[in-house]
Amino acid sequence: MFKKILIANRGEIALRVQRACREMGIKAVMVYSEADRDAKYVKLADEAVCIGPAPSAQSYLNMPAIISAAEVTDAEAIHPGYGFLSENADFAERVEKSGFKFIGPTPESIRLMGDKVSAKQAMIRAGVPCVPGSDGALPADPVVIKRTAKAIGYPVIIKAAGGGGGRGMRVVHTEAALLHAVQTTKAEAGAAFGNPEVYMEKFLQNPRHIEIQILADQHRNAVYLGERDCSMQRRHQKVIEEAPAPGIPRRLIEKIGERCAAACKKIGYRGAGTFEFLYENGEFYFIEMNTRVQVEHPVTEWITGIDIVRTQIAVAAGEKLPFTQRQIELRGHAIECRINAEDPYKFTPSPGRVTTWHAPGGPGVRVDSHVYANYFVPPNYDSMVGKIIVHGDTREQALARMSTALSETVVEGIQTNIPLHRELMVDASFVAGGTNIHYLEEWLSKRVR
Ligand code: ADP
Repeated sequence: MFKKILIANRGEIALRVQRACREMGIKAVMVYSEADRDAKYVKLADEAVCIGPAPSAQSYLNMPAIISAAEVTDAEAIHPGYGFLSENADFAERVEKSGFKFIGPTPESIRLMGDKVSAKQAMIRAGVPCVPGSDGALPADPVVIKRTAKAIGYPVIIKAAGGGGGRGMRVVHTEAALLHAVQTTKAEAGAAFGNPEVYMEKFLQNPRHIEIQILADQHRNAVYLGERDCSMQRRHQKVIEEAPAPGIPRRLIEKIGERCAAACKKIGYRGAGTFEFLYENGEFYFIEMNTRVQVEHPVTEWITGIDIVRTQIAVAAGEKLPFTQRQIELRGHAIECRINAEDPYKFTPSPGRVTTWHAPGGPGVRVDSHVYANYFVPPNYDSMVGKIIVHGDTREQALARMSTALSETVVEGIQTNIPLHRELMVDASFVAGGTNIHYLEEWLSKRVR
């Protein structure tokens, strides 16, 4: 096992990985930007190295600075967390070429699955069902683009091959709007992701977002850890996640889970990963794979009892998965609320000094957050400041626990979306379960303050 790991991330996930290292007797090296200098998780680390000023481009995305930090501290492996460089194949390659282990899949797997066009093609080959769409990237020819859309049927969605984080997508309802939408998405994708390639998919009207968590080792063992329902989204960004997904027959999940595990074996995948699907009328349609740990991993950890971050580290060190598919049992129900520093009505970011931070507790409550009283939320990064995760024997109990946990939470000095979560936990449709990906936005448009 590794003796020392460098954590190339910040905030709650940096702390989450640090905790896993502690438990495993591994020393943790934190890297931090000037904006995160005073954060407690940085001070708690065995060692910490400043890698640059606040803007991510100069710090958390600064590959040479991160690799030299690993060199000077004698770390053996680098955990990228999520976001930042976690799905950057060039980074993974540079890490391994510099003699460190990248805690994640091989650069080849990241490259294959990171490009949504090649990922879809690989999944079709592996027998995983996909959203009907263009056969690969869209060509420049307007005639072909129009013909493709017609064949798929409107509405269609134009998506950037290199897109992520809910960005680089545009829904098109009519042929009149098509070419302009393709051009704009291309231009945006080129600027944002350095890759102007776009593809087209049928825009599903009322799907749910269901994803399958997998874990694989380098000895061609792969398992799936059930599913998560992440349909509660705003602007294609997840707000609430839960596991299991209400109302989806177990045998359907098992069927798709087995396909995902088989696909992992086929492409030689190692580490943690998530297959994201849209689910409509009893059918699953693959949309993309995330080749890293996800924000919502705790709900799966809770219903399976498996520590996903620990397993990531173990398999990166070359160990075999310590369980087989048959040993994985799902227990109870888990829900996660993402706590964002934002106006709960207008959703404008609300960085600043947290004056009061009172986290909830009690049976079945887990809080993953790096925040504390007097912590300053920097304006430079994602607005998520933590996650509240609850577990119950039943979904009903989990909902009640979440409502209780949210009512106990006190955050002052900044605004958070806790009031939104409190309203949603008692919303009749959410409580009934099975809301689709448009539900939250529709609910917000009708919300009365
Ligand atoms: P990202 O990598 O940016 O997260 P995804 O491909 O995972 O992009 O899509 C994010 C979200 O966008 C999905 O959860 C869903 O809400 C919506 N979406 C993506 N593709 C489609 C589609 N074909 N039809 C309807 N909604 C879609």
